[in-house]
Amino acid sequence: MAEEVKGIDDLILKVRSYNSSADTEFLSRAYWFSSEAHQRQKRKEGTPYIEHPIAVASILADLKMDTVTIAAGILHDTIEDTDVTVDDISKRFGYDTAFLVKSLTKLSRMEFKSKEMAQAENFRKMLLSMAEDIRVILIKFADRLHNMRTLEFLPEAKRQRIATETLDIYAPISNRLGIGWLKTELEDLSFKYLMPQLYAELAVKVEKKREEHEGYIKEVAAIVAAYIKKEGISGTVTGRVKHYYGIYQKMLRQKVPFEQIYDVLGIRIITDTKANCYAILGLIHSLWAPVTGKFKDYIGVPKFNQYQSLHTTIIGPRGERVEFQIRTEDMDSVAEGGIASHWRYKEQGGVKERDERYITWLRDLVSAQTEMTDSRDFLDALKAEVVPHEVYVFTPNGDVKELPYGSTPVDFAYSIHTQVGHRCVGAKINGRMVPLGQKLQSGDTVEITTSPTHTPSRDWLKFVATQRAKTRVKQWLKTEERKQSLELGIKLFEAELRRHHLSPSLVKSEEMTGLAKGYNLQDKDDLLASIGFGMISARQAVNRLMPEHAEEPGKEPEKKPRGKVKEPGISIKGIDGVLYHTAKCCFPVPGDSLIGFITKGRGVAVHRRNCRSLGNLAVDNARVVDVEWASEGGSVSHAKLLVDTMDKPGMLANLSALISAMDINISHMEAATTADKKARIVFTLEVKDRAQLAAVMQKMAQMDGVLSIKR
Ligand code: MN
Repeated sequence: MAEEVKGIDDLILKVRSYNSSADTEFLSRAYWFSSEAHQRQKRKEGTPYIEHPIAVASILADLKMDTVTIAAGILHDTIEDTDVTVDDISKRFGYDTAFLVKSLTKLSRMEFKSKEMAQAENFRKMLLSMAEDIRVILIKFADRLHNMRTLEFLPEAKRQRIATETLDIYAPISNRLGIGWLKTELEDLSFKYLMPQLYAELAVKVEKKREEHEGYIKEVAAIVAAYIKKEGISGTVTGRVKHYYGIYQKMLRQKVPFEQIYDVLGIRIITDTKANCYAILGLIHSLWAPVTGKFKDYIGVPKFNQYQSLHTTIIGPRGERVEFQIRTEDMDSVAEGGIASHWRYKEQGGVKERDERYITWLRDLVSAQTEMTDSRDFLDALKAEVVPHEVYVFTPNGDVKELPYGSTPVDFAYSIHTQVGHRCVGAKINGRMVPLGQKLQSGDTVEITTSPTHTPSRDWLKFVATQRAKTRVKQWLKTEERKQSLELGIKLFEAELRRHHLSPSLVKSEEMTGLAKGYNLQDKDDLLASIGFGMISARQAVNRLMPEHAEEPGKEPEKKPRGKVKEPGISIKGIDGVLYHTAKCCFPVPGDSLIGFITKGRGVAVHRRNCRSLGNLAVDNARVVDVEWASEGGSVSHAKLLVDTMDKPGMLANLSALISAMDINISHMEAATTADKKARIVFTLEVKDRAQLAAVMQKMAQMDGVLSIKR
């Protein structure tokens, strides 16, 4: 497009041409600072490095950017390549400039491995979603354009990689950003390096055609221009050549050789009003015969992307085809804005609901571009629209995963494989350990640590964002609950059999199937799981199995050696190795009278017999099991005390001192004052047994200011 400038003086002139009040001293300072930082570096072609950032800044001036962006362009490689820090830039050039340079450095450290279109699509979206400030993207694109312009100095392999990436990612985004010339230039440069032979051949052919037709096109254009003038219609008539990559794509699409592409050369007429577009069309059709099927009224029926223009092809004075495009200035700025050519909905063959929004955005963007004169307004409008709906993160191999906004490492793990999800124990984001519930951000590299023995946690359901993770965790929990219930059911049933002096092996007998059918259940596993779930009582089931034993009074079976239990001190009568936990509502301590309650899939919860949360459970409730303290000494239990006191200084300290003096640990403590000048203190204590707990409660009650103590 515009020519590069070598020094700061030319750059300043260019900036002044569209912004007369630009702070040129600011730009000069950026230039000298950057020159000094890059002093020892050379470009691949052997020229001083500073020429690159200056060229980038010059492209940004072509885009009529503000001075901060241009300064950031001058400084864009300093953090990455020299000793300069973000702070240095912030101190000298302000926060905005430093932010832009910092963001660019972050972007340039990202690796682009664009092989498939789907992946490239993710990269494009990621780029946009990552840029909190769209100016970052524009500097990035200016940087890329200059690198493409000087690509010949790089080794072949690098050239291929950069050109592919440019074609897959940068060109489509510049199109979406409405910068058509940038897209065109990036495409042609990529084309040149990716298919040098084809490019060279095409360039020769296009040039030849141009030479052949130049006189002809001029002749036709002159005739049209004269007629327009005669009719009193204002309009400018120009000849045009399609860009190389565009021609190449047309050849591929239509599967025809270059010779059959007729609209390589064309004439474009820009006029003032819509009515005049049709007037000019009528004029042309009255002069020459139109080719059937070639007339397109995109003014009456705009393309989906808002492109508006009249297209027609006629047989010209010497029997040659000429394509005309007729439109108003406004329509032209939309068309030149890049909206015209290769829309994503065309590329992808469909519009998804979310993409609709994107297209609307672009539509608004393009119309805003013609209305807003100040580039800053335009950028702010653009920025406000770039709202992330997804995050794009990398696997350690550099693959991209698209996840909903708010996703966590657990979502990421399940997106890889169910087993990776089930076994995930930890996560690293960008090399640092993070909690599993941490929210991911676009650009993060996520690494999952797994352990073969680890299993999903119910807590994960509180933070996972994907349906996939939710479903997988729930499924696992359900399967696990059934397994637990089945195990517990077997143990409860065996215990009941022993109570009747029957062989526990009856649990495996054929009669069990009949018994299950009697309960309307599939098989004996279903029956045992139902017992484990607390839906059917083991006692009732055994009575049904052996009616003759039903009335026999249950005598305690012989005390069996206790199997391993998870917490010391509790045994469930006649049953070994049952999964159980002490209830958090009443914190039973040794000496308390206990009751066991079968929970759904989480084994037996052990409560104090008078625990309020149990309410008045019927003793023969299928879910109630007998439990007792098995041993004393050695272990400690947690007990919770609610102490109400007067709200006066030293209460808490005195109570704590009292507890400590009795050699009791306080594992947790919470205090709150109430409106009526009182305080409630909640202690969680580690006590040996009920006697010790009673002793401490008694001592507390005697203390001055203590109003009541409750467990
Ligand atoms: Mn650069």
